[in-house]
Amino acid sequence: MLTDIQISRAAKLEPISVIAERLGLQPDAIEPYGHYKAKLDLAAAGIDTSADAEASQGKLILVTAINPTPAGEGKTTTSVGLADALNRIGRKTVLALREPSLGPCFGTKGGATGGGYAQVGPMEDINLHFTGDFHAITSAHNLLAAMIDNHIHWGNTLDIDVRRVVWRRVLDINDRALRSIVQSTGGVGNGFPRESGFDITVASEVMAILCLARDLADLEERLGRIVIGYTRAKSPVTASDLKAAGAMAVLLAQAIKPNLVQTLEGNPALLHGGPFANIAHGCNSVIATRAALSLGDFVVTEAGFGADLGAEKFFDIKCRQAGLKPAAAVIVATVRALKMNGGVAKADLGSEDVEAVRRGSVNLVRHIENVRIFGVPVVVAINHFTSDTDAEIAVLREAAAGQGAEAHLCRHWADGGAGAEDLAQAVARLADEGSADFEPLYPDDLSLIDKIHSVATRIYRADSVAASPAILAQLKRWEEAGYGHLPVCMAKTQYSFSADPSLLGAPTGHVLAVREVKLSAGAGFVVAICGEIMTMPGLPRVPAAESIRHDATGEIEGLF
Ligand code: ADP
Ligand code: MG
Repeated sequence: MLTDIQISRAAKLEPISVIAERLGLQPDAIEPYGHYKAKLDLAAAGIDTSADAEASQGKLILVTAINPTPAGEGKTTTSVGLADALNRIGRKTVLALREPSLGPCFGTKGGATGGGYAQVGPMEDINLHFTGDFHAITSAHNLLAAMIDNHIHWGNTLDIDVRRVVWRRVLDINDRALRSIVQSTGGVGNGFPRESGFDITVASEVMAILCLARDLADLEERLGRIVIGYTRAKSPVTASDLKAAGAMAVLLAQAIKPNLVQTLEGNPALLHGGPFANIAHGCNSVIATRAALSLGDFVVTEAGFGADLGAEKFFDIKCRQAGLKPAAAVIVATVRALKMNGGVAKADLGSEDVEAVRRGSVNLVRHIENVRIFGVPVVVAINHFTSDTDAEIAVLREAAAGQGAEAHLCRHWADGGAGAEDLAQAVARLADEGSADFEPLYPDDLSLIDKIHSVATRIYRADSVAASPAILAQLKRWEEAGYGHLPVCMAKTQYSFSADPSLLGAPTGHVLAVREVKLSAGAGFVVAICGEIMTMPGLPRVPAAESIRHDATGEIEGLF
């Protein structure tokens, strides 16, 4: 069995100019970064992402999943396989995916370019630095942090309360030592000492802003709306109060352009932006999605985590803000994850257990029901693993059929696009029927706590929401300050419909406890943190970094 990196290296990529040409782009519409990557120049390509989304030709297909195992269920892999398969059956399809963070590459999760014969390339480049977008986001974020402390140092005319600065610093390396720090120590010349910390770059609000902005002007306005902290009278202080937004936007001018790469089968993929799927919304940029919709007949995109978190936020945050109307959703299910939802331990996933699949299929059923609440029709993709047995697959199919949903066995990981043609036919049929009638879950004018309640009861099927008087008061203050119309961004475990990672399957009767709330005024959402959410991950006892190196021929080994 070849590893992902071996398969990737054996594939012959085409020059990126050939991929662009196939998309109908003129040579001046791309800015090549080496042979196999390019930035899209949207103006030169004649693409206006600020125009009405309805005007673009493509149909938007969301790939989401059931509640996963710790390894992930293959959403990226299935997105790539589906896009290749749609192209194979004659539908011009463009992928729109997130770009990976460096952090997990050196930890345990590895890269994020798909797997097996359903990958995008060049894998090493994409996983390591790529076109420098994360560097630009890190710099823009930290410039604002430096301007905050500088403002305080030189007299603090805005009366920023140093105890209420909420803007931290970011870095794209998993480094637990920086989670919580005391900064500005060492004397008068170094400013006023205070507690702060670092988050991983993908958790930066600048990342979420880049991913939700419609164009450069919208980006700068959103950057200006970032709330960095509060005055002693508790009124919000923004990046525009600090006159930081212009310089931040300048740092992001190149990063805001979508990155064009290709699948191993030579189909176009836009990889752009990579916000965290917990404290942010977890989808690639609106700009890339809109560009893809104007270039292809179909656009396949992915939302992070399971459908309870990823699809809900894709619909309620991204589609709501950008006016996108998805045509269909693919729910990726695996026998392994259903077994886990049926109570099987991770170590025992390799052996047949039909009854566990049956017990766990309540998880799939609920995700199908949930996606339909948004008016989006569903197909189930059974991402085939070699350990799956026919009897287990039959039970999975039955569960989907019980909901009137088609389920297709997909072998794209082993066979590339040819392995997902049935799925592609079903997706194309569903999208062509035009039965989608997308509606977000709740209206803009509902109160913030009622929005949280709406997601908790209708999507998570909790009985109620628990929030302390302090949290309720904070939400009220934000409503009074004019932030009440924003959607909520739920942050909870990806393993359960509830906030308890051990409650698998389809739990009901639970209480969703909101531990903390956070305002992302520039991105345009209020984060409700339910449970422990790590915004600066650590490395495991034996990090992948220990085995990443150049081999004797100079090739990178150990990346996976
Ligand atoms: P997600 O996007 O849901 O997090 P990925 O598509 O990144 O998941 O896949 C997670 C890991 O699982 C990758 O290492 C990928 O190679 C592997 N994988 C995905 N599908 C299969 C499959 N059908 N068989 C074996 N491994 C798979
Ligand atoms: Mg993924």
